[in-house]
Amino acid sequence: MSRLIFAFVVFPFLCVGQSLPKSADTVFLGADTIVLFEDKTWEYMHALNFNGVMCDEMRNSIEGTNLVVDWQNDVTFNYDNDMRALTDSIWICSIDSLHSGFAIPCPAPITSEFKMRGKKFHYGIDLDLKTGDTVLCAFDGIVRYSKYNGAGFGYLTVVRHYNGLETYYAHLSKLFTKPNQRINAGEAIGLGGNTGRSYGDHLHFEIRYFHNPIDPEHIIDFEKGELRDENLIIHKKLFDYRKIDGSKRKFAQAKNKTPEQIAEEIKQSKERKYHTVKRGDSLYAMALKYDTSVNKICSLNGISDTKILNIGEKLRIR
Ligand SMILES: [Zn+2]
Repeated sequence: MSRLIFAFVVFPFLCVGQSLPKSADTVFLGADTIVLFEDKTWEYMHALNFNGVMCDEMRNSIEGTNLVVDWQNDVTFNYDNDMRALTDSIWICSIDSLHSGFAIPCPAPITSEFKMRGKKFHYGIDLDLKTGDTVLCAFDGIVRYSKYNGAGFGYLTVVRHYNGLETYYAHLSKLFTKPNQRINAGEAIGLGGNTGRSYGDHLHFEIRYFHNPIDPEHIIDFEKGELRDENLIIHKKLFDYRKIDGSKRKFAQAKNKTPEQIAEEIKQSKERKYHTVKRGDSLYAMALKYDTSVNKICSLNGISDTKILNIGEKLRIR
């Protein structure tokens, strides 16, 4: 990877801070949690507000789509955020210089893919482990959910990573982590099992972005045990499950892009500009203010020039 791209890769994550100490124990005090780290420091997790949004490009795209960003220890996912409404592609890194670790959750063959299975969509992949096999955390992150899930996951751990992705490890027989504790790639999440709606030992593994599942094989090459690409372009087609056909999946697109193409995409996304509609705003006034035209604003946002503007609504200007 060229130096130029490396700079881009590092930039969005500078605000994360230094690498974190490993957690040694978690103490619960009423509704609050204290996490003790191996270096004998501790952190009071009462005001935990970790939303995984680390760069302006992502923030813009997300605000433009009115995505809900939350941190809940008792809820797995909800249907508030429909990523098919994304207007822009979001560029994130699966790993970066501060959180460079990656591990395959368990080295086992895939027995069921991300696709329609009977009448239901299978929003993850199944890995053929045996009860008692150790399951590893795929990327660095913070445990958001770790308990028995009555909706079918059985013993489930959900980890949110520093790029906003979440990984789900389901049907476990034993959980090793507590909510709100930090965990690194390669550390044990728990032991594999057959709990919940499961017929035979296996790991059900999901990757979600703001609650919306992404095909894990889009990101991870399970056969080779490695990441397909450090760059991950999130776009609405990833979430159009009706059009996903397991037999026709292609995973190589991202790798075929040259560093120059990725740099150009990033440059273009930086040039995007949004305007939040205020009282008294009109398309004409916005066009004047940003030195553009009403037609241009309309076509960027897929609206007509007779549209009634709502206060607080975000419109793309460039
Ligand atoms: Zn499954």
